[in-house]
Amino acid sequence: MTDRLRIALQKKGRLADDSFALLKKCGLRFAIRGGGLLARVKNMPIDLLLVRDDDIPSFVANDAADIGIVGENVLVEEQLTSQDELNANITMRLGFSRCKLSLAAADTGKVQSVTDLNGTRIATTYPGVLGQYLRDNNIKAKLVEMKGAVELAPSIGIAESICDLVSSGATLEANGLTAFKTILESEAVLIQSGRELSAAKAALLDKLMRRIDGVIKSAE
Ligand code: ATP
Ligand code: ZN
Repeated sequence: MTDRLRIALQKKGRLADDSFALLKKCGLRFAIRGGGLLARVKNMPIDLLLVRDDDIPSFVANDAADIGIVGENVLVEEQLTSQDELNANITMRLGFSRCKLSLAAADTGKVQSVTDLNGTRIATTYPGVLGQYLRDNNIKAKLVEMKGAVELAPSIGIAESICDLVSSGATLEANGLTAFKTILESEAVLIQSGRELSAAKAALLDKLMRRIDGVIKSAE
């Protein structure tokens, strides 16, 4: 059993650079190399696991990592779609990678609001969060599950609306779509399982969290 604290991070993408920058500001010294899945922190007993963001909640839940940095949207989706209860919860909000999971449709189409969704098709990569929203609001619509490029769904005729992540809205606009309802607001979060850490790891995590807190406060 290693006593190095293992942190799961997105290897490459919209969370990755800000996650690395936050840890560097906390005093961790490490280098991210092209193909590597593991980066050792040189000046502290910490290993960084570099993975796809979708794998981070289950890595933490299944004890492949002690903590992780992931979008709240991904955590909630995994919580709602995992077979067993997912042992991963938010320990701290990090304030970067803010985005919204929103419903959007063409300005000229038949879906202009939530009540128009009944009997229509909605394309998404978030069947868990969207399914829950539809159930909670008693809306009967068909989910068209996609792996990406959701914003193309209305123009190719496979759905009347979409449910996708939005930050500036530029991608929606470029595809002739407008958001009409936000169903989840998200930011990067630090996650942890309910398992107890060794005393050494717990002390290190405590120190790291105090530093993260300091970095976030000094940026405000
Ligand atoms: P991976 O290859 O790791 O699976 P990905 O393509 O699923 O990456 P990214 O596009 O890098 O994911 O987004 C990672 C996270 O960044 C999102 O889950 C979300 O929390 C956040 N994010 C912030 N703004 C946006 C945005 N405009 N579009 C998509 N994600 C965003
Ligand atoms: Zn992903």
